[in-house]
Parts: sequence; C-alpha cells; structure tokens
Amino acid sequence: MLILKGDQKLSTDNIMHLIGKINALIYARVSTTDQANKGFSIESQIERCKNRAISKFGYKESEIIALIEPGGMGDDPNRPALNHALYLLEKGLGKKFIVLHPDRLTRDNTLQGVVSRRIWGMGVDIEFIEFEVNPHDPESMLMYNIQGSIAQYNKAKIHANSKRGRFAKAKKGEFPSFKRLYGYKFNTVTDLPEYNEEEKEILIEMKDMLLNKKMSSNEIAKELSRRGVAAPNGKTWYQATVSRMLQNEDYTGDFYYGKSKVVQINGKKKQVPTNQDEWILIKIPPMWDKATREQIIERLKSNFKGRSRATKDYLLKNKAKCGRCGGACGSGITSKTKSGVYKYYSCRAKTAKGYQNGKKVVTCEGKNWRVDIVDDIFWNWFMKVMKNPEDFLESFLEETSDQKKIDELKARVSQLEKQLNELDEEIANYVILFGKGKIKESMFDQLSQPLEQNKDHIENEIKIINSQLAANKQTEDKKQKLLKYISSFSKMIKNEITIEEKRHFLDFFIEKVTLFDDDHMEVVWKSKTLNNENSHVDFLNGEQGGEFSNSHKRLNRIQAYGRQTA
Ligand SMILES: [Zn+2]
Repeated sequence: MLILKGDQKLSTDNIMHLIGKINALIYARVSTTDQANKGFSIESQIERCKNRAISKFGYKESEIIALIEPGGMGDDPNRPALNHALYLLEKGLGKKFIVLHPDRLTRDNTLQGVVSRRIWGMGVDIEFIEFEVNPHDPESMLMYNIQGSIAQYNKAKIHANSKRGRFAKAKKGEFPSFKRLYGYKFNTVTDLPEYNEEEKEILIEMKDMLLNKKMSSNEIAKELSRRGVAAPNGKTWYQATVSRMLQNEDYTGDFYYGKSKVVQINGKKKQVPTNQDEWILIKIPPMWDKATREQIIERLKSNFKGRSRATKDYLLKNKAKCGRCGGACGSGITSKTKSGVYKYYSCRAKTAKGYQNGKKVVTCEGKNWRVDIVDDIFWNWFMKVMKNPEDFLESFLEETSDQKKIDELKARVSQLEKQLNELDEEIANYVILFGKGKIKESMFDQLSQPLEQNKDHIENEIKIINSQLAANKQTEDKKQKLLKYISSFSKMIKNEITIEEKRHFLDFFIEKVTLFDDDHMEVVWKSKTLNNENSHVDFLNGEQGGEFSNSHKRLNRIQAYGRQTA
C-alpha cells in the first residue's frame, strides 16, 4: 500500500505508471480537537479502511493508496491531501474512495455535498466504514445531508463555546487567559494577576534609572545584566527589551485582552494584530500611572534624538542579508567623514545591543557596507541585466519552449487516438457479432469489457498529456508577459525613477542580496516567478558560461569602503 503523507504527491510519471493498477484510495484525517479520541487515530482509520477494501471488495493491498491529511489543517476547505486524492481519482486511479466516516471528509455540510458529488460524478463510489450512503437513494441522501448538518453544527458549537466563552469572560473583567507579563504572576485560585514582588521591584528600578538617574535604555540593559538580573526571555538583556518594557501600556493597569488573534492563512496558524475596537479592557494592579508612562516615553524619545536613525532611502530594504550569519541587514549606522555622512548596511545581529553579565554579547562581528556604494553597484548591474532581457531569460526560454518535448507529446496523443479508434472498431465488430446472434450477451461482455477498460486507460492518458500541453502553453504565455514587463521596465528606467519604484521592480525579481566581508555580493533571484516547477532554471549555479551567469553570482567586487564603524 502506497501511503502519501501531508504534502506528498504523485508525479505525472508515477500516475501514468499506476493507471489500471489502483483500485481504492483511502483518505484519513485527524483534526486537533479529535486527537484525544483514540478511535480517530490515523493508523486505525487506515487499518479499518484497508480491511474493508480487502474483505468487501477483494482488493489487494498493493492496489490501494492511502492519503493522510497534514495536521493542523483544521477545517480549511483547501486541503492538500483531499485535493490530491480528487486529482488522482480524476486521472483514473481508484474506483472506490474509502473513508472512516463522513466527518473525516469534512465537517462542512456544503463542502461534503460538493466533494461527494464530484467523486460520484467521476463514476467512483464512496465507501464509509461507519456510514452507508447510496447516491441513487433519496432517503439515503437525506440521511447523508442530515449527518453533514449535524457535523457542521457540532463544529460551530465547539468553536463558539471556546471563542464566545473567552470573550464573555473578558467582558466581565475576568481573565480567559493571561500571557506571561513581566512583573506579575497569575493566581489560579482567584483567577487574577498579582504582583510578582521581585520583578515589580526591578521594573520600578528600571523606571527610576531612566527618569531619575538619567540612564539610557542601553545603560539600563547593561547594568541589569551586570547584576545578574534574569532577563524576561533568556539570558540576554537587550536595549530594545528595556525600551519596550518601559513603554508597555499594561503597566498603567490597563490590560487589553484580544490585541491579537490567531487566524489560519493557507492552512497555517498565524498571530495577527486586531483592530483596537476589538480589544477588551481589563483592569490589573498598576506599576505606575499614566502620567509616568508619558514621562517615560518622552525621555526615551529625547534619548533617541541625535542618534543615528534608520533611513528609508536604501535600495536593498528587506533584501540585504549578512554574509557572515545570514541575518537581515538594516541601514541605520552612519558615520561622519570629511567628505560627508555615510550610511551603512549593518547586520541586525551585530547592531542589537544585548548584554550578559555586564558585557556586550556579540553574535556577529565584522564590517558594515556603505549604502551608497552597494546600491549604486547593484542598481547598475541590475539595469545591465534588464536591458538585455533575452540574455537574461535565455536558459528559461530554452527550457520552456522545448519544441521537441511538445512534439513528442503531440505524437503520443495521436498514437493513442489511433489506438482508441482500433479499440472502437474491435468493439464494433463484437457488437455486429452480437447483433447477428453469433455470440451471447455474456460472451459479448467478456470480450468487450477488457477493451472498454483499455479505452478508459488510454483516454486518461490523453487527458494527462493534454493537461501537460496546456501547462506548457501557460508557461509560454507567462514568458511573453515577463518579456513585455521587462521591456517596459527598460524603457522606464531611461527616465529618473524614485527609489520606491526601483524597489518595486526589485521585489518582482530579486529574493535577496547577500553582502560579504570581502566586498562582493551574491544575488538570489525569485526564480519561482521565472520558472515553473518542472523547468527549474539554475540561475545561481548555471553552467551556461558567459558574462551573465558569472556576473549574477558574483557581482563586481566592491572595493574601497569607507572606514569600518564599530
Ligand atoms: Zn551577521
């Protein structure tokens, strides 16, 4: 039995190889809320479905493919394993689709209807181990729909209970949950947060250091680490941590619940901020009053003045990476020289001010890169590449407009169509024999059935090849679009364009630019935009030779930097 887990998919080659050899697909899924229920484990789902396939339909284990939905998909309708199962059925793999229970398929009644009808429409039977459904029996279909509605209702109820319950609690001023907040502990008996006296003392002292001792957040971080005070997260006290803690609104006693929420994006859970009108205010014991917080913010602001500030005027924003550690590079550091003020790309791991035991923690050491030089050289190189889009896309074009491959596929289609005609003729002959009474119906069935099956397989193969040809057409169209885009870009850059416009174009083509200590940079293209998955053009390690493949990998070496800054 072939088992496909999560995102695993069969390639077209594999599918073509398996056509005619697969009788059943098994689909298994566990959602997070089911995990406790042992009857729902993936293993037991597959085991029971497999046993049914063997005992009821007489299939062999080798004729079964099991597809397992990746975890954490919730009830997202866009499920990779289910989608792939439908795709395989469409390609002719499997006559039965076996699932433990309708709620494994989906808990959404509409989706249940859509998916089931699609499967039945392909002439495939759905077999549930714990439910019986017959699409031709209205009563059975009614039961099936009721089951879907109940599943949907149950799902909605669980969801509402938890979410609504939490909000109702918060509205009453109670804590549905209390994330760790430095300075507090949560009393599980009273369900209320209380001061953590030790941490409270530290906080108050931090405030005094800033407001009364006129220390900067950097000096505070250093001092706390020198004294061996435990940092909120781990060993290191960062300047940014101190600054963020001091400004935290929670410490005025106004604690807001629901500032962020978890949403599913493409099946993955992600925490996103919410609108302010969704926040619920809960009062907690304050560390200091609102006026004090205002003072803190004022002081931090004035400390910040006169220091180098992050600039927005740099080309490789969010693209520049540190060649030493791979971390992101920002542009904040400036240095004044006789010839002017220079900005530098600098590794964030290097600029973060963190302290342990009073000593600065350095995780990335080395040079900074002058923004004006890097941007200039990079942009010139980029324009040069863009002015010859044909060169730039050459290997890509070769790959995708592979006429030979297309011709081969087309030849295969016409060959298959010929086979189909021959089969039709053969079947027609038996029809004539049957019509003349020369063979009985049972004989006719016996003779024509394998031919019909053969026809099915050939038709499937034609479908697959046609979809390959269609995909090729898409790539061709995409290539044309890309060429057009680049050429209009080339025209445009003859005129002056703003740095935002430049970045917009870079965004389209460039994934990242890594800056190295020996003054060269390496560029990674967003090759996904340029290539489809079957025609990966090796822009990075291209052996094509020529100036292009060299120049993109290793840009002009950037020499003569300004002095190194600390
Ligand atoms: Zn670094």
